[in-house]
Amino acid sequence: MKNVSASLRLTLWFSGIFLCGFVLFGVVMWIDLAYSLGKGRDRTLNRRATRFIELLRATRTDSPSRRQARFAQLADVIPEGNLIQIRTPDGRRVFPTDDPSPGFPWPAWTPVARPEYSTVNVNGHPTRVLRFPAAADFPMVVLVAGQLEDNRNMLARFTAGLAGAIPAMLVLSALCGYFLGRRVLQPVDQITGTLHSISIGNLSRRLPVSGAGDELQRLAETCNQMLERLQDAVNRINRFTADASHELRSPVALIRAVAEYALRNPEIDIESKEAFSEILAESVEAGLLLEDMLTLARADAGHGTPVTEPLELAELVEDIGARLRPLAEAKKQSVIVRTSGPAWITGERVSVRRLLSILLDNAIKYTPAEGRIQMELTTAKSRAVVAVTDNGIGIPESLLPRIFDRFARADPSRGEVSGTGLGLAIAKWIAGVHGATLTAESREQQGSTFRVEFPLVEPGTPQVTLGHKTEQVS
Ligand code: ADP
Repeated sequence: MKNVSASLRLTLWFSGIFLCGFVLFGVVMWIDLAYSLGKGRDRTLNRRATRFIELLRATRTDSPSRRQARFAQLADVIPEGNLIQIRTPDGRRVFPTDDPSPGFPWPAWTPVARPEYSTVNVNGHPTRVLRFPAAADFPMVVLVAGQLEDNRNMLARFTAGLAGAIPAMLVLSALCGYFLGRRVLQPVDQITGTLHSISIGNLSRRLPVSGAGDELQRLAETCNQMLERLQDAVNRINRFTADASHELRSPVALIRAVAEYALRNPEIDIESKEAFSEILAESVEAGLLLEDMLTLARADAGHGTPVTEPLELAELVEDIGARLRPLAEAKKQSVIVRTSGPAWITGERVSVRRLLSILLDNAIKYTPAEGRIQMELTTAKSRAVVAVTDNGIGIPESLLPRIFDRFARADPSRGEVSGTGLGLAIAKWIAGVHGATLTAESREQQGSTFRVEFPLVEPGTPQVTLGHKTEQVS
């Protein structure tokens, strides 16, 4: 039963139990019916024998011909009336005087103490025979027989009906099981769906609580309590990260200022110059890392103002291309920027600039000298797509699925330039805030393409709130 959905398992269980119950019910009914029919037949034979004995008594003083007439009369009104024999213990016929059913396998004429039943086969037809004890005042043997064919037919019809009903009941029970399973498990599916949509960015979401007081309500409440605790813990970590980054900014800025001041001294000796240059480079790195951490901590905390401004992307793309081009030229790389007319989105200028700068800056950083980089803006189906493509070192296949995670960086042995490992995480977050999707395709040593797709808006349409920008993105 591995890898089988719970509703299918429930359906199978339901159908199995229903089928077993139905078969058991059928078997019990069959046995009961067979017993009742058999008993009924025996009672009928008993009644017939009794009526003949009563007639024997009543006609004791009648002449033999009148007696025969009365017996014949009674036999006429009884179905299978000719299957009656009354004889003296020595076998002399009392009624009927001649045998209307020759060859019938009557049992012996010996008298019995109590009614005795037996079943005989007459030309393939089962027949029940009753040997009735003779009364003390009438020492005669009464034998009555009746066919069991009707009983057999009725049982056969019952069995056929039962066999026909089983597949129908099976289908019905499977449908009922599936319907019940779906009904019972639907809230579980809803809970799963909601839990799926909850991530570190929207931990404030809660599951709907039904109020039915059942297991599902308790499950939803327990999940909500767990989310509460998680949100609390994440908030504390965010606060700590934001506070730590904020507090560290001043000392790092001071270290950087001191290093710059020392390097401006024309009389600085070579060794000190090297040491201060290293301090300056490290402090610049640390400053960038702190800014990125602060940005993400504030993003997680949901600080900021709603994004509602209309923004023209083509002009922004051209501008970013122009601003970063000198970096590429320093590495003798060619940068092609292509746009296809104005494309309006709802976006916050500084944030979108940061997003596209991260992508283009990475392309320049991770592409060797004389490589090719392209930033292209296209519009299609109410989407504006900015694709940044390079023919650089590419991203290892193992890293690609988590490339947007915080601090995800390729193995330093690839001889990569320094970085914080937070740029793409920030880019992804900015894309999310703008209702955009950011995706990456890459092959090692062949190059990468980062694609960000924004929803297009008509210029002049009412502005909508997409998400929250932080005041710190810059
Ligand atoms: P950083 O560049 O500061 O290390 P990012 O989050 O911007 O941080 O990038 C994470 C990692 O993704 C980089 O360290 C690099 O290994 C890989 N990467 C990003 N962009 C590219 C690219 N265009 N080509 C190759 N690798 C890239």
